[in-house]
Order: sequence, then structure tokens, then C-alpha cells
Amino acid sequence: MKEKEEEKNNKNKKYLIVILILLVLAIIGSISYIIYSNNQKKEQENVMPYSDLIKNIYSGNVEKIEMTVGSTAIKVKIKNDDKEKSSIVPNTQAFIEFIHEKVLEDEIDLQQKQSNVFFRISNGIFTLLPTILLVILFFVILKMQGLGDKGKVYEANENDTKVRFKDVAGLDEEKNELIEIVDFLKDPKKFQKMGAKVPRGILLCGKPGTGKTLIAKAIAGEAGVPFISMSGSEFIELFAGLGASRVRKLFEKARKISPCIVFIDEIDAIGARRTSSSGAESENNQTLNQLLVEMDGFETNETIIVLAATNRPEMLDKALLRPGRFDRQITIAPPDIRGREEILKIHSSDKKFADDIDFKDIAEDTAGFTGAELANVLNEAAIIATIKNHESIEKDDLEEAVKKVTIGLQKTSRVISDKDKKLTAYHEAGHAIVSKFLQTSMDIKEVSIVPRGFAGGYTMYKTNEDKFYVSKTEMEERLISLLGGRAAEKIALDDISTGASNDIEVATQIARDMVTVYGMSDNIGPVSLKTENPYEIQIFGKDIEDEIGKEIKQLIDTAYVKAQAILRQNMNILHAVAQTLLEKETISEKEFNRFFEN
Ligand code: ADP
Ligand code: ZN
Repeated sequence: MKEKEEEKNNKNKKYLIVILILLVLAIIGSISYIIYSNNQKKEQENVMPYSDLIKNIYSGNVEKIEMTVGSTAIKVKIKNDDKEKSSIVPNTQAFIEFIHEKVLEDEIDLQQKQSNVFFRISNGIFTLLPTILLVILFFVILKMQGLGDKGKVYEANENDTKVRFKDVAGLDEEKNELIEIVDFLKDPKKFQKMGAKVPRGILLCGKPGTGKTLIAKAIAGEAGVPFISMSGSEFIELFAGLGASRVRKLFEKARKISPCIVFIDEIDAIGARRTSSSGAESENNQTLNQLLVEMDGFETNETIIVLAATNRPEMLDKALLRPGRFDRQITIAPPDIRGREEILKIHSSDKKFADDIDFKDIAEDTAGFTGAELANVLNEAAIIATIKNHESIEKDDLEEAVKKVTIGLQKTSRVISDKDKKLTAYHEAGHAIVSKFLQTSMDIKEVSIVPRGFAGGYTMYKTNEDKFYVSKTEMEERLISLLGGRAAEKIALDDISTGASNDIEVATQIARDMVTVYGMSDNIGPVSLKTENPYEIQIFGKDIEDEIGKEIKQLIDTAYVKAQAILRQNMNILHAVAQTLLEKETISEKEFNRFFEN
């Protein structure tokens, strides 16, 4: 990412120079225009209309005429008049001939002058300026389109393949999942002999700066294969068909150097759901279609792994996610407190720190920071220490750096406040603890207050064996665990938040299905009330809708009361789990179960 940025900066510099040249030209143009129009203005005060001029010539009043080559403006001296007049002749050549024809040679002193140099140059630039500007603009656009450097369809870098898994902090599970890709790239024949199919496309989902590019490079580095990359936004072109042709070139290159990794950053820029077919939209479709064609066209002997990154997997066109394309998704979450400490350590290796620095403290202060932001903190700290003439980076420097980066993040409201953290901690603790006391609930795998997607935290359950049927008790208990989050907020903090909105939505849908689809309500009985047309329900009588509403509400109310009751009986556990979440951010299954021992 760093190298990419540098290159971008260089490109930007080039554009800056071009823009500066344009500006200078524009200034010269306007100056000459001002001089030019000033001249004209002065002359206008003494202007003699062409018809008057002709009259004066016929009546022999004109003593002298001064013409400038290349200009239709002339100066006229009338007999017995000291002031020179000016006039404009429609056609200089015809005018000269007219004088030679109609007037005796010596009667009018006709002089033809070369215009002065500055005026001529500025006049020339002025008339040529629009053309020059257009030509330059055209080239700038071409450059921006990338037509200028036709061969350069990818950005590979020597350093890219030097990255190893050890350079990627945290993300152990993700690395584990990707190790088979490394094995495949190293020895594809082994897999082919077995008839094993290895995913060709992997989607890395996560916020910017969480290390998606880094981990893709690490795969290439570990496998010792080239890494070629491109950003989705670079495929979006003004000229139709260019995006598609770039995709083609990218894969042409990939086939040539295979085995290799192809990395497509910001794939949502080309892979967004196909909606309409107008303008830019249809250009995207062409690009997307080309990508699909390329991925479908992989031969078994081509060892190309395509990794794509996005922050919005839900936006992607479903066609991209089909088998053989990006059929595996790996979520790269922002680091938890331990991950942050590790990232800080990795990025501190090339910097000098004072002895009393504990990265644990900084990790604690940087909840919600991504890897890129943490790297940024260390860089800022080094700058601050340098400015302050410190021997090494001191605690104060780091604290100041954290503040500086935090303020930058606050503008985009990505820092989690202590209040939000506390709320999330109780909310997630609520889900987890309530689940623990339910007969049918799945075991807890992990509880966390590290944000994921739109959620401030999450409670992960261990998935049980596949089940065909779900019992009424299970559904009722599911409602209880879903409402456990809200219940904990209410009981522990005596305030409730919007954080439970998704839980409530899911719970209500389950309750509705219980009543209208699965016939689980005693009062209504086993009747399917799921109809497209609301009037169809009325065959069960007018009151049926009221009844459905009452039943749904009854199910939810009961579950909410039960969730609160469970938590009230386990207040000390609730406080303890929430407190631990605030400290550690993520609690494993083992750690969680320890709260319930003895
Ligand atoms: P993304 O592709 O997700 O936007 P990058 O991979 O470009 O993020 O990360 C930007 C930089 O942040 C990396 O070059 C690296 O310096 C740092 N970084 C991010 N995540 C990690 C991590 N897990 N370990 C070490 N450094 C990281
Ligand atoms: Zn919840």
C-alpha cells in the first residue's frame, strides 16, 4: 500500500506540473488579452466608422494612413486635425487595392508597419491559447485514462514478495485458512493428482487498513510467486471498453507469469450489483463481465489465485460469488487488544523507543484502530520525537501521536467512546450469559466488543450439527437470547440503546413466523396465515389480525421478561463478564465458561 501511494504521489506531482503550466499559459493569455483590449479601448475614443473613412478618402481629407501587418485596425490622419483617428477595415488587402486604385499615389501617405514583437507574440498566444489548452487537456485526460502507458496494466513491486506471514500480526485463524493456498501455489501438481479443488477466488472483507493487501502479499511471499495487483477504482474508465480491456491484460499477464497471485483491491467498484444499464453503469458491467469470463476461463494447469478486497461484500453482484469465482469469503476484522499490541511491536522494529514504553498501554488506548492506523501512530510518534529533539520515542510522544490520530478518526466518527464500549460490553455479555442458562441454546464460541460490520460487538455461537427441524422451545429460547442484549443494557445501565435494533428485528420476525407460518400459537392454532394478500387472512374473521399481533407481542414480552430474570439472578457474573470484555475486548469459550465454574 505504501509503494502504491508513493507512485500515486508521483503521478499527482506530474499532474500538478501540467496544471501549473496551464495556469501560466492562462495568465499570459489574460495579460495579453488585457493589453489587447486596452489598446482597442483607447482607439475606440477616436474611432472613425469605415463609411466616414471612405467618404473622407473620396473628398481628399485624408493625409496619412498607417496600417499594421496582420491587423485590421488602422490609424488615420485627417488634414487640419492634430489627433490621429483609428478605424477598422473589413478587408485589409481589398482596402489597399482600393486606395491604390482610387487615389493618386502621393495624395495619401500609406504606410505599412510590422507590429511590435511583444504584441505579436502575445497576440499569437492569445489566438492559439484555446487550441494549446485543448491539446494539453486532451493529453492529461489520456494520461489519467492510462492510455499513455499502454503496457502498464499492473503494479508489481520487488518488495511485494518479501512480505511473509510473520509480518502480518494477529489474524491467526485467517492465516491458517490461507495456508492451503500457499501450499497449492507451491506445488499445484500435488493437489491436481488428488483431484482436490482449491478455491480460485477468495474475497477478503474488512475495513480499509485492516491488512487485506498485506495478507495477500504475504501469501505470494510465502509461496514465492509474483504478486500483481490492481484497484477496482482504476478499472472504472470514462472510455467505454477500457475497463474490460484492462482486466483482459491483467489476466493475460497473470497467465504468462503463473503461478501467481492477482490482487484486486476495492472490487466493489467494478463488482457492484448490476442494476441499470445506462452510461457508467454499463461500462462497469462490461468490466465485471470480463472479470467473470477470465475467472471462468481458468485452465486446470494455470495456477492463478485471485484475491479481492472489499469493505462491502453485501454490495457485490451475486454472479461474482458463485462457485469457481469468489466462492470463499474471509473476514478481516480490526485487531483486538492483543492483535493491536502485536501490530505495534511489528511496526516498532525500525524505531528507537525509551525503555519504559509498554505497547500494552498503547493497545489499550487505541480501541477500534486498524493496523494501518496503528502504523500511523508509531510514525507520528517518531515525527513528534524528532521535532522535540528526543533521544528516542518517549511515552509523551506516543500519547500525543495517539491523540493526533484519534482526532483525525473522530472526524470520521470511527473511534469508539468509552460509553459505547461499556454499553456494548453489557449488551454482548447479556446475550452470552442468557444463552448459557437456556436448555437448547448453542454453546458460546467467542464474545467480543470489537466492531464487526454495523454491529458494535458480537457473540459467536458454536454451530451444531445440521438440523432439519427446530422445536417451539428452541425458538422461544432463541427469542430470549436475542433479547438478552437489550435486557442487560436495561438492568445494568438502566438505559437502553439503538444497539439492539437488529436483535429486535430478528426476534420479531421469528415470533411472527412462529405464529403465522409454523402454527405454534395456542390461541390461533396450526393455521398458515402467511399470505401475499392481507385480505385473505380475513377469511378467519375480522379479529384475526389483532390476534396475530397480540400473539407476537406475547411471545416477545415473555422472552424479554425471562431474559431479564436470568440476568437479575446473575448480576455478579454480568458485571464480571462486562468488565473482562472492557479489558480484553474478546473472550474465548474457555475464558467465558470459567465465570460459571464453582
Ligand atoms: P487494506 O488492504 O486492508 O486496506 P493494508 O494491507 O493496505 O490494508 O494495510 C495497510 C498497512 O497497515 C500495511 O501496509 C501495514 O503496514 C499495516 N497493517 C495493517 N494490518 C496489519 C497487521 N495485521 N499486521 C501488521 N501490519 C498491518
Ligand atoms: Zn445484540
